[in-house]
Amino acid sequence: MLNVIIFGPPGSGKGTQSELIIAKYGLYHISTGEILRQEIKKQTELGAVADEYIKTGQLIPDELIIKILADVLDANLGAKGFIFDGFPRTIAQGKALDQLLSEKNTSIIAVLNLAVDEEELLNRLIKRGEESGRTDDDPVVIQKRLEVYRNQTEPLKEFYKKKGKLFTIKGNNSIEDVFEKIAEVLDRLSFQAK
Ligand code: ATP
Ligand code: MG
Repeated sequence: MLNVIIFGPPGSGKGTQSELIIAKYGLYHISTGEILRQEIKKQTELGAVADEYIKTGQLIPDELIIKILADVLDANLGAKGFIFDGFPRTIAQGKALDQLLSEKNTSIIAVLNLAVDEEELLNRLIKRGEESGRTDDDPVVIQKRLEVYRNQTEPLKEFYKKKGKLFTIKGNNSIEDVFEKIAEVLDRLSFQAK
């Protein structure tokens, strides 16, 4: 399997690049943010819980999101590989993902880290907020999300760097340029996938 994590702060272009990666490599997309937004839309019990965290810019508890992820993995074992978008967001989630994949005799081949400076992130998210209607694309909540990213999610870079799996790509460039760099990494590594 070709299992890839698309990593980076809110607004770094994870969703956009995921779509291009799926089109070229045929991977199964797992966006935990999208899953949660669907639950909110469907007004499920899980959606109600998730909404409380999301609208204040906080992460939903590890236990809950790990369970959701495990279920999605189990339901799609026939996939050629997965692209994880918005997961893991904490070290505990990273460890859980390693465990879940090793139980299926597979692993993460690359973590594509999209590096975008904070000023550009703020511009993008505020602009997106004008159209997306997402409750968390609001200036105050955006600040909170960036803080949560720095405190809880960014340490994962070191976690994957130590494993030799971190590939940093400058995310400020055009969508096509960013994708070209991603494809270089994936083409180079895909033969190692198991
Ligand atoms: P991007 O703009 O790059 O797509 P994002 O940070 O704006 O990323 P999502 O990944 O869609 O947005 O996540 C939205 C919210 O959903 C998060 O702020 C968080 O509250 C919740 N969430 C999503 N994934 C997780 C996770 N793995 N663990 C905990 N909470 C999560
Ligand atoms: Mg997203």
